[in-house]
Amino acid sequence: MSVSARKFAITAPAPPPHMGTAERDLVAMGIAISAIIMFVGTGGGVLSRILAHSFGIGVGPDRLLTNALLLNVALVIFGWRRYEDLRREVGTRRAAEAQARLLAETDALTGCLNRYSITEATDTLVKRAAAQGEITAFIMIDLDNFKQINDCNGHGAGDSILQETARRIRAAMPAGALLARLGGDEFACVCAFDPRRPERIDSLATAVLDGVSAPVVAEGFRGQISVSIGITRSDTPVGEASGDFADAGQLLHMADIAMYQAKKEGRNRYVWFAREMEDALRYRSDLEIAIREGLSQGEFVPYYEQQIDLASGELVGFEMLARWHSDQFPNVGPEVFIPVAEDIGVIAEMSEELIRQALNDAKGWDPALTLSVNISPVQLRDPWFAQRILKLLVTANFPPSRLDIEITETCLHSNIAGVHALVTSLKNQGISISLDDFGTGYSSLSHLRSLPFDRIKIDRSFVTSMRESADSATIVRSITSLGEGLGLPITAEGIESEEVLDGLRALGQFKGQGYLYGRPQPADAVRAMLDERAQRKLADDAPTVTDTALPLASNG
Ligand code: C2E
Ligand code: MG
Ligand code: MG
Repeated sequence: MSVSARKFAITAPAPPPHMGTAERDLVAMGIAISAIIMFVGTGGGVLSRILAHSFGIGVGPDRLLTNALLLNVALVIFGWRRYEDLRREVGTRRAAEAQARLLAETDALTGCLNRYSITEATDTLVKRAAAQGEITAFIMIDLDNFKQINDCNGHGAGDSILQETARRIRAAMPAGALLARLGGDEFACVCAFDPRRPERIDSLATAVLDGVSAPVVAEGFRGQISVSIGITRSDTPVGEASGDFADAGQLLHMADIAMYQAKKEGRNRYVWFAREMEDALRYRSDLEIAIREGLSQGEFVPYYEQQIDLASGELVGFEMLARWHSDQFPNVGPEVFIPVAEDIGVIAEMSEELIRQALNDAKGWDPALTLSVNISPVQLRDPWFAQRILKLLVTANFPPSRLDIEITETCLHSNIAGVHALVTSLKNQGISISLDDFGTGYSSLSHLRSLPFDRIKIDRSFVTSMRESADSATIVRSITSLGEGLGLPITAEGIESEEVLDGLRALGQFKGQGYLYGRPQPADAVRAMLDERAQRKLADDAPTVTDTALPLASNG
């Protein structure tokens, strides 16, 4: 082989096995470039001779050189294609790596950062802001009643609401701020601010509150949402020593506590963290642990509140109300522990255990007395709920016609199809259904007509105050005529005084319950009361002393 032929005949060396893609990329590009240089430097002469010869000018090039030129052209093409392939391969791999990093760092649903990446990003932002004399605000944003929205409307609607909320929060945020979804319905916004202008963060929180409160329409859900916001700042001391400032984890913890405080104060607001709030979170966590333990220890027991026919004064049944016999939390009532049990996913277990006990208690009462039980919206989403109730009835051998299930209004406006199927299924078994706390929720009147309820219960807030408040009295009157119009009997809750009782009697036919007839009682007290009533009735029905004395005398 001639020197010039050798010059062209460069074979591409196989990349060493340890070579990375980027290095191989460079080698292929090197081959292509050197082949081009050789082509331009040497092949140029050969090519011009080939071209001249083809027009009949001069002698033709050396065959070997021509072959070498062709080989060189092939090499240029090969090198170039190889370079392109490798470039594509590297590009694909880089995109995959970027995608993997994106997935690891962001929340797939909303595109926000996730819990893990916000921690790192917050620490970086805090340091960078501090270097410029700025403070970082950590803002925790939690949707109000999201669980209920999810339970009532399904997870598709829940997801859309979360996406829309993320968009709205982002729209309110300043440039350079970070937004993360921490999980569930919790978001965090982190941004730096001038310590002389903390009101900027107040304005931001207000903008988020306003932004998210605009009406939302999402897969069957139509309504407004709100958020509770907790805020803390990076210069909050966390230790005894001054200058011992919070890291991202501690900021998140403090903002979480402030957010709980916002919930406690009535939701749809923002609250700045204060040290004293820390106790609240500890309380909630202790409460959750105690509820789980209390369930396994049988600490949740049914109490019973009398239900009276107001016209005759006759006892017609009892409403079962859950009570917690807890040493640690002796004064915590159902309005506190039921929502916590819903949140931690034990409401069905708790409720079914209470109903089981209540059916056993009620079995021993006068068979004319009914038993009402309250059912959480969470339970209504369980497609097997009706079967579960029937199983409890069969096990206790309790007639379905004596059972009344109380459903609150809150789920009706959205989960109407689910509730309709469930109510129908329960009614087919002979169980009656009441609409509880009527007047406090959002049920549309058409829903009220389309659902086969047996009874409406006017919320106690209207009844209790109907003598003092003209508005309450109007609401009670309106609900009464609504019930009459729809042929739905009414129970008035919260009768505390004779005056209210008289007012109700003047309005129409009601069943009623309230402290006027006594507080909710445990099973044995109810048993004793019913026994005493039976004794009294027996005595009342018995012949008079003179009547009985005669036969006794004659016997004697
Ligand atoms: P509710 O079903 O509307 O029950 C009536 C509530 O009003 C009870 O409160 C009762 O003690 C109270 N009450 C009755 N009469 C009067 C009165 O004259 N004045 C006043 N101020 N209050 C009166 P409680 O027992 O604290 O229950 C609160 C709510 O907790 C219940 O409201 C019900 O929604 C829920 N709840 C109770 N037990 C259960 C349960 O086992 N499961 C579920 N899901 N919820 C329950
Ligand atoms: Mg009730
Ligand atoms: Mg009620």
